[in-house]
Amino acid sequence: MATDMKPKQAFCLRPPRRSSSLSRFFLFSLVLLLTLLGTKLRHYDALTIFWPAEAVLLGLFIRRPDWASQKLNWLIITLAYFCAELLAHNPLSIALLLTVANVSGVSLAYWLITRNPLLDLSLRHPQAMLTLAAYYGLACVLSALLGGFALYLHTSQDLPLAILSWVLTGLISYTAILPVILTAPARPWRRFLEYWNEPHLMSLSQLAPALSLFLTSLLSLLIDGPGSLAFPVLPLLWCALSYSLFSTTLLTLFYVLWTLFALSQPMYFLPSQLHTSLDLLSLRIGIASIALASITSASLMSARNLAVEKLQKLAHHDALTGLLNKQAFYQQSQAILTQCRLKQVPISVIVLDIDHFKPINDTHGHHVGDLALSAITQRISLALRDTDLCGRLGGEEFGILLPDCSAQQAHAVAERVRKSISLLPFSLDNEQQLTMTASLGVATLEPPTLDLHALLRRADTALYEAKRAGRDQSDSYHSPAPKTGT
Ligand code: GH3
Ligand code: MG
Ligand code: MG
Repeated sequence: MATDMKPKQAFCLRPPRRSSSLSRFFLFSLVLLLTLLGTKLRHYDALTIFWPAEAVLLGLFIRRPDWASQKLNWLIITLAYFCAELLAHNPLSIALLLTVANVSGVSLAYWLITRNPLLDLSLRHPQAMLTLAAYYGLACVLSALLGGFALYLHTSQDLPLAILSWVLTGLISYTAILPVILTAPARPWRRFLEYWNEPHLMSLSQLAPALSLFLTSLLSLLIDGPGSLAFPVLPLLWCALSYSLFSTTLLTLFYVLWTLFALSQPMYFLPSQLHTSLDLLSLRIGIASIALASITSASLMSARNLAVEKLQKLAHHDALTGLLNKQAFYQQSQAILTQCRLKQVPISVIVLDIDHFKPINDTHGHHVGDLALSAITQRISLALRDTDLCGRLGGEEFGILLPDCSAQQAHAVAERVRKSISLLPFSLDNEQQLTMTASLGVATLEPPTLDLHALLRRADTALYEAKRAGRDQSDSYHSPAPKTGT
């Protein structure tokens, strides 16, 4: 059994800590209740078989590797399975066989998953869901070989049919439940409370994909024909393209549960004799495939969104300092300037240049120069408001845009930034202390009449004056006095 498995994934709800007795009690009760639920469904109707215990357990163990790494927890869940099978009135030998089947299945799935460090367990890689399905598929086959044999002994079912039915039950349950647990936000109840305290109404277009899923699910119940199983495919795809990965996994879980239980209703097209035939198994393969396709599409979408976000960040930000690059700074500043012009509020700009930066590179090396640039960036950012904009204009030159800021206020900000750099030495590599200073040029438009480039030119002129006057100071641009006629 997989008791000494050390998961390689750093994907967990909280930092690993040892299980408490409370968590052990929780694990025992959860497995007991879910197994009892599964056994109840097992006797209710062949089609409605849904076996959530292993999928929930595997999801929990992946998200809480500290729980999975303890042998005692595996013993506790084995005991819970065994008790549930006895409570379901199975003879001792059958209960034992079914317990071994369930525990070995979930152990194999966990072992396979934790042996693959490249598998993205947050399912934000297009192939992740399919790889995961291959792993839990193998686990289903292992437990089906043992469990199907037990069912064959106990219920004298046809052995191949019992095994196949077990595999498909496992596949459907894992496919519907596991992605929900793996993609759930770290503290979902907090998100729910936040939403509860500040509810925001969703527009009809936002709700449309989910509504179409509910509608087609209803239609599949009312309209006859085997094709009705696939009615919700397109809405599921729409959900995958429109919603977050977690929301899509929830809606897919709804689809699976609804379809399983709706199919078992007498009003549905299935004649009752189908409930014992291979057609039933084929239906279950169809449902599992649709669920798998829906979640894979959502994973693909999520991976694409992440890639676009990353590319956008790379395109707009400077890699060393994380600040906006020159082009993005100009673009965003232009938009803010237009707003200030519309509101008729002043706007100021500061251009900052580090003093004698070349000697720092020459003395300490380029690497220390880079560290110094990052450290100065942090100090500048701390001295600004959230609404101010800061960008790296070039080498060791930075631009700061201050919307709704008068000349006097801008000068005060420039002084604050300057002092934050010059008053405290910087601790860099090898505990080196480095003292740096900067010169700043300030220009203001009250109200904004010129374009951005003209404003920046004025700030550059003021910066030049600050450098000329001895550095480590800020200077504000003053329009040249009008020439008097001679
Ligand atoms: P001044 O007080 O007149 O501004 O003197 P300075 O030495 O700061 O001015 P100068 O423009 O001559 O030098 C800027 C230096 O900044 C030159 C270049 O090697 C360095 N630099 C530009 N970009 C980077 C960078 O990304 N990393 C490092 N480490 N150095 C850089
Ligand atoms: Mg410089
Ligand atoms: Mg420079």
